Amino acid sequence: MSRRIGVFDRSGIESLRKELRIDPHSVRQLRNDLFKHFLSDEDALSRFSAADRVAVHSLEMYHRRDSMFDGATKLLLKTAAGMLIESVILRVASGRTTLCVSSQIGCAAACDFCATGKMGIARNLAAAEILDQLLIAGQLLRTEKRSVRNVVFMGMGEPFHNEENLYQSLESLISQDLFHHSPTKVLISTVGIADAMIRCAKRFPKVNLALSLHSVRQDVREQLIPLARLYRLKQLRETVIEINALTGSPVMIEYLMLAGRNDSETDARELIEWVSGMSVHVNLIPYNPIDESPHLHGSDRPTREAFASRLKNEGIKTTLRYSLGHDIAAACGQLVRHENRHPPTVIQ
Ligand code: SAH
Repeated sequence: MSRRIGVFDRSGIESLRKELRIDPHSVRQLRNDLFKHFLSDEDALSRFSAADRVAVHSLEMYHRRDSMFDGATKLLLKTAAGMLIESVILRVASGRTTLCVSSQIGCAAACDFCATGKMGIARNLAAAEILDQLLIAGQLLRTEKRSVRNVVFMGMGEPFHNEENLYQSLESLISQDLFHHSPTKVLISTVGIADAMIRCAKRFPKVNLALSLHSVRQDVREQLIPLARLYRLKQLRETVIEINALTGSPVMIEYLMLAGRNDSETDARELIEWVSGMSVHVNLIPYNPIDESPHLHGSDRPTREAFASRLKNEGIKTTLRYSLGHDIAAACGQLVRHENRHPPTVIQ
């Protein structure tokens, strides 16, 4: 039997089309059905003459967990080799839906606060595996009459450690004949790989970038993020300013609030100083505790609120985030680690 061609494999699909003399319109229809309308596999393939030669998914739904409190759903997806990754659907009451995707299995960055970082790195995800997360979530959401509005690369992995596949997935995401997703509704979050951030801003100036800053003190940042030794705060400052000039858009600054580490009045003052002259939007994130780092604690709510007020009083755009999906192990990578240890008996 001939091998199935992945639905994201442009040249493979084109060869198949020629071999079987399929009408180009039929290929277009299949792509529209799947990537724009998110029809089920059965419905989309029923209209395609070479359905038995096409593989729609490179990932398989392994387990789904819905939050009992808010609109978060965690999807555990299995690769062909049986490894698990996570995608998270965040439904906001207003109807807007965000999908958080993974770019790697595990992560080499080894940040102290991050469950994925504690796994180490297994491998990069292929572009098709990144895109399949959107397809699977889109098909699921269609049954709820919802669609993915924002795609954020905030799942497992460091996107800029998988730069080529990341860019390939971005091309397909925004390509008119595939997902045709607006680049302004895509966000890449990074630990701060400065040179890659600039390459990305040049190639995809409309895609948003987020820098996981977490501290503006070099020593504190190094304790939390080992890679901070390589990409120092001074270089990151210059990088953000250059990206502002390249894209004309603000850079998102992510700041995890950790008690006694980065949440004092002095920390707020130094952060205000650090972002001066930049166009940024600061997101203050509550810490989701992880078992592997019992020495880290999230800042309490009054401290987070006071920190946010200090920034706002200086005219810095600041959002105080509340965590969604606490009960479904919201810190990325937590659920994968848990499921690997205790696989569910019922696969949904
Ligand atoms: N490697 C990329 C993207 C994945 S992490 C990055 O570092 O940005 C996505 C975001 O989740 C980052 O801002 C990261 O700092 C944050 N994060 C990681 N572990 C967390 C935890 N336990 N609680 C809250 N946020 C966490």
